[in-house]
Amino acid sequence: MPLLCSADEKLCAFLQEKEDVETSFDRVPGQAVKCGFGLQGVCCRLCSNGPCRITLKAARGICGATADTMVARNFLRAVAAGAACYLHVVENAANVLKNAEPPFPGEAVLEELASRFGLQAQDPRGKAGELANRILADLYRPRSAKMELAEKLSCAPRFKRWQELGILPGGAKSEVFDALVKTSTNLSSDPADMLLHALRLGIATGLYSLMLTNKINDILAGEPELGTVRVGFSVVDPEFINIMVIGHQHALLAALQRELTAPRAEESARQAGARGFRIVGATCVGQDMEARCAHAGGVFAGHAGNNFTSEPLLATGGIDLVVTEFNCALPGIEEICEKSRVRQICIDDVAKKQNAEYLPYDFKKSRETAWKIIEAAAESYRNRRSQVAVTVPEHGCEGSLAGVGEKSLKKFLGGSYKPLLDLIATGRIRGLAGVVGCSNLTTKGHDVFTLELTRELIRRDILVLTAGCTSGGLANCGMMLPEAAAQAGENLQSVCSELGIPPVLNFGPCLAIGRLEEVAAELAAALKVDLPQLPLAVSAPQWLEEQALADGAFALALGLLVHLGSPPFTGGSRLVTDILTRDLEGLTGGKVLVEEEPVRAAEALCDHIMKKRAALGI
Ligand code: SF4
Ligand code: SF4
Repeated sequence: MPLLCSADEKLCAFLQEKEDVETSFDRVPGQAVKCGFGLQGVCCRLCSNGPCRITLKAARGICGATADTMVARNFLRAVAAGAACYLHVVENAANVLKNAEPPFPGEAVLEELASRFGLQAQDPRGKAGELANRILADLYRPRSAKMELAEKLSCAPRFKRWQELGILPGGAKSEVFDALVKTSTNLSSDPADMLLHALRLGIATGLYSLMLTNKINDILAGEPELGTVRVGFSVVDPEFINIMVIGHQHALLAALQRELTAPRAEESARQAGARGFRIVGATCVGQDMEARCAHAGGVFAGHAGNNFTSEPLLATGGIDLVVTEFNCALPGIEEICEKSRVRQICIDDVAKKQNAEYLPYDFKKSRETAWKIIEAAAESYRNRRSQVAVTVPEHGCEGSLAGVGEKSLKKFLGGSYKPLLDLIATGRIRGLAGVVGCSNLTTKGHDVFTLELTRELIRRDILVLTAGCTSGGLANCGMMLPEAAAQAGENLQSVCSELGIPPVLNFGPCLAIGRLEEVAAELAAALKVDLPQLPLAVSAPQWLEEQALADGAFALALGLLVHLGSPPFTGGSRLVTDILTRDLEGLTGGKVLVEEEPVRAAEALCDHIMKKRAALGI
């Protein structure tokens, strides 16, 4: 049995007992030796002359491509793929909105957007349709036509800077398309141009996929509300039929959530021998549901864990049906589902698992899709419960703060961000750090870097705001409990105890990086400065995938310092490295910092924050 490495000790203890189950944790040693060319980004297999690799003896590929070209091509391709994933999410959300019927749980958000975008329709149905159409039209514009809603979604000084730099995106899908064209065989060889293209994709991703997806989901499923929740595997109650959701698309699951509150669902569960149905959250969509659980009518059991806790969660035997609609549905879940006789339904074929049933989501018939899922869950429960052992461990904690959003936070502070700005000005909070993105198993272990970095930051009186699987991991490790303040520096500790908050604020899924941007934009507007001037930094300590690189491109366009706990496969090019870690700062204000030790990373982020404070004269 390999050594399991997770910051979550209860998870490790559970897995130690499950010797018959293979998870990603077991597969880490088999992949321990990394390919140096891949790590450096200096391999290319764009044509049949390759694969070519840059070595000390071979400075160019057969076609003449340099390390700079290869690295920039690989990087832009990855950002384009990440942007494509996120754009798929906002496109689907807009299509759900277009076909949804009022009343909407988050009608106030619809009204805000109607006024912000100057929508013509008068009634909620008309406004929802018009909003959806405006978003879809922007996504499908040609690259030569700039996205129309972008200006109204941006903070003014940033929009001006992007305009000056010529990096305002044209139609987002066309930007992705041309990024693929540009990086194909013997097309662009210009690293600087490719990096600027990555920034355009970052802006499109941030404004549309991150910010607007949240807003559409808020309309459809209600806005986040502050509250305390139970987190971890203990949210699974074996007396219920448990539907585990994996993905990023709350919009596609809003109908399921709604229908599960109907008396018909309760009756169906009773007939199957259960007390009812519960949705168990995993990955980012679980965090979306957690943030909006005040509107879920009691059918949401809670968020069980992040990406790499999905396999162990299934190993409890307490899940009866898995619904996947996007990443991060690990291929590893398939075998465990088969062993535990867990039925799998996929409602978006981009996340189709080999042994899952595919149930295409019909935007016009979301209710019917929901009932097919409910019936399949009841049937799976009936068929499997007498055949499998259910061992749900004591895991996670009770009383974790969730539901932090740009509006719920402001409301908590009394209707304005002034109290937060005052705390920053007096130095009781030195600054803010967004600790965001995924978890992985290789940057020191599952959530290990994230937890260590977070502890180091709060120890330095830096308030941590999280979005993504970092939130799920930190919540399961107890960092969203008010008691976690004991680990913070004296000043932050006193702030937390006065306000009754933990030192780490859980904004929810990775999509909520868009909410962090909104908070930052409001702070900057209140101080009459641009975003890069704020005492604020971002870290994606355990970034995992291409989507995280698209998020990172957004943060760089916003002008922020972006720390990564492991390199973004660009180290093989001096030019690309210099642009990302140094020269970009002169353009957008943003730059990348790769630091593989949590204490040093915290020091660097803190230094950055202190410099920004000094420049603001505080
Ligand atoms: S495109 Fe150039 S570097 Fe890439 S595999 Fe072909 S010859 Fe080699
Ligand atoms: S934060 Fe990253 S790993 Fe987690 S669900 Fe989102 S994309 Fe997947």
